[in-house]
Amino acid sequence: MLTYEQARQTVIERISAEKGPRATEQIRVGDALGYVLAQEVKTDREYPPFNRATRDGYAVFAADIHPGTTLKCTAEIKAGDRVTKELWAETCVQIMTGAALPSGADAVVMIEHTSRDGDQVRFERGAASGQNFVPRGSEARAGQTLLTPGMRLGYAELALAAQVGAAELKCGQKPRVAILSTGDEIVPVESAPGRFQIRNSNSVSLAAQVRLAGGKPILLGNAMDREDDLQSKIRRGLQEDLLVLSGGVSMGKYDLVEKVLRGMQTEFYFDAVAIRPGKPAVFGKCGETFVFGLPGNPVSTMVTFELLVAPAVDLLSGTDARSLPLVEARIGERLQEKPGVTHFLPARLERLGAQMEVKALKWQGSGDVAALSKANCYLVVPADVEKIEAGEKVTVLLRRDVL
Ligand code: AMP
Ligand code: MG
Repeated sequence: MLTYEQARQTVIERISAEKGPRATEQIRVGDALGYVLAQEVKTDREYPPFNRATRDGYAVFAADIHPGTTLKCTAEIKAGDRVTKELWAETCVQIMTGAALPSGADAVVMIEHTSRDGDQVRFERGAASGQNFVPRGSEARAGQTLLTPGMRLGYAELALAAQVGAAELKCGQKPRVAILSTGDEIVPVESAPGRFQIRNSNSVSLAAQVRLAGGKPILLGNAMDREDDLQSKIRRGLQEDLLVLSGGVSMGKYDLVEKVLRGMQTEFYFDAVAIRPGKPAVFGKCGETFVFGLPGNPVSTMVTFELLVAPAVDLLSGTDARSLPLVEARIGERLQEKPGVTHFLPARLERLGAQMEVKALKWQGSGDVAALSKANCYLVVPADVEKIEAGEKVTVLLRRDVL
């Protein structure tokens, strides 16, 4: 059975081998969060476009200034002012943050280090050439490429695009991810479940995870545990860029997803992963479309999405697969788990003094969404580890939606 790292690598290799160029669309810069850029973004001019003061104070020629120097203030420059004035020898100019230095000035002295009497400004300490301003062109040259195709757009990248006037960005279309839940017991969230029925929470969590991963969820509802219903709804799902099913991949008599997919000539790349929760997860390709069958227990569905499906969405978006958000922490309490599979336990990571401490939460197993909703991470217990003593170092997988 593959480890989760091997299964993840399989997903990455299979999809990388086939991904072609994505269709693109123009997105307004303010709406482009989470898209993958499909163009270069270049500067329209030098940045900053002028010598920009970074403090409120006085623009000076540094060599004029010593502790106790008093100079006449001859002018004032605000942010946005057109600067025509120049700095005369043995004078200073009052300047605000964001304003352009007058020519001849090579430093700004913070207002806190001065005192003023009429137009006379007294400097309490010396000044060094270059202090408290950003020289023209030092952040970026004119025509310099700042953002390149394949970059994922976060708030900093969007701000940079906005700064250089890229009001619209050519982006890869988000991959369309079909979501199909399965199970005779599953009813829509809006309907009142009978005593032995379960609301379809997996389609909700999967859609949220698809969005977080940068995809567009296409909700196909639920298929009954019947071959005909599964087949027709899977066929519909295969029209999208990726199909993700939940439920019906375990060993039960009515777990028919794998059987139906096999009957539809799916090539499977794995049909189990050495993890808990999530062991029965399957991945393959049916026709032109990659398919995941995730186990239906809600926490299994969530964990397997994060480990296996998220990198697929990255690659289909036209960017590299992000690495898993794994960090190290000290475990707060002793822990014992059955070896043989890697465990992902709902856990809470908190700062304790100088260290990060993690504690597994009590839970009733992979159906316990309430426990997971108190968690901000998963404590990863490697397959070859049976016991962890309090204070030992462990690996933690962060929940990127809440941290
Ligand atoms: P399965 O993987 O089909 O054997 O389902 C395992 C468990 O997950 C069962 O208790 C199901 O009722 C539950 N389950 C399956 N699908 C969903 C779903 N869409 N939403 C919530 N729970 C589900
Ligand atoms: Mg089922």
